[in-house]
Amino acid sequence: MKFCQKCGKELLDEAVICPNCGCTVAPIQTSAPISETSAFATEDKNPQTRESDSNANMALLFAFFIPIVGIVIGLINMGKYQTKKYKDRCVAAVIVGVIVQIILIAFIMNV
Ligand SMILES: [Zn+2]
Repeated sequence: MKFCQKCGKELLDEAVICPNCGCTVAPIQTSAPISETSAFATEDKNPQTRESDSNANMALLFAFFIPIVGIVIGLINMGKYQTKKYKDRCVAAVIVGVIVQIILIAFIMNV
């Protein structure tokens, strides 16, 4: 059982429009799997994916120059990707960041 967000009238679970006030009613939790599939389908055309792409590249770039930042960006964005290519880029950024960080520490210790 759900209720109209505008007028609070009790509605049927499958109701799309409130019979009392006529406003559209948000469906209960059924949109989650649909949006997931559509995210997969429109992945390459989605402007958000392009933005995420630059995040993966940024993580890699930072990994070489400011390893800590590269590791953090890589870890944050790693979970966001559905495309293996970008996920791998984030993993690579974390690995490169750790290696560069170790080299930096070793360098500082030797000096
Ligand atoms: Zn209503």
